[in-house]
Amino acid sequence: MEILDWSNSSDVQLAKIFFNKYVTSWNPRDLNCRNIMVPRSLNDDPCLLNVGQIFSSNPHNDYKELLNRVQKHTKCTVDSCLCKKGTILTCWYNAPWDLCDESRLFIDDQGRKKYEPTRNDDKLNVHNIDLLTMWRANVDCQPVLSRYAMLKYIAKYTSKAEKRFESYRHMLKRISNSIGSEDHALCAYRKFLAETIVDREIGA
Ligand SMILES: [Zn+2]
Repeated sequence: MEILDWSNSSDVQLAKIFFNKYVTSWNPRDLNCRNIMVPRSLNDDPCLLNVGQIFSSNPHNDYKELLNRVQKHTKCTVDSCLCKKGTILTCWYNAPWDLCDESRLFIDDQGRKKYEPTRNDDKLNVHNIDLLTMWRANVDCQPVLSRYAMLKYIAKYTSKAEKRFESYRHMLKRISNSIGSEDHALCAYRKFLAETIVDREIGA
């Protein structure tokens, strides 16, 4: 992207067509069921399919189910993405996003280079289809539009202070207190396992 001449509209158009092949925020699900979150049992969760089930399923249906299971930014909470802009709590990712029929590659009024893919779903994360169907969990994807953006990203994550991890006992206790009293204990254990996998301590 460093060699792209942003003043040349046909070069920008070609770069945009290139990115269109790799990232999208287009939901193939029917408009009427796009925002319906279906409660799923353990046997019917696209994230939990085994290799045999994945390869015997229809690839398009598999992608559609997976996408609507893990790539929807449906709820903004203080714990995840809400932050204060002045006195108003706003989503850090600016969700929900505006719909658009045509992708855009442009420099905004603050001089930032931006790419926006076509979008028919205001709560769908920008993603790469192949990466999602292989990774089978939430994974956002954004084209790198400048060397500065890449350096800023690396600097942010390498300098981020590690938080002190709570003990497993405290973690399970906190999760148990957060779920409804009528919920099954299995629900608490699933959340507990999910958190231990996400934690960077385990990842490291
Ligand atoms: Zn949000």
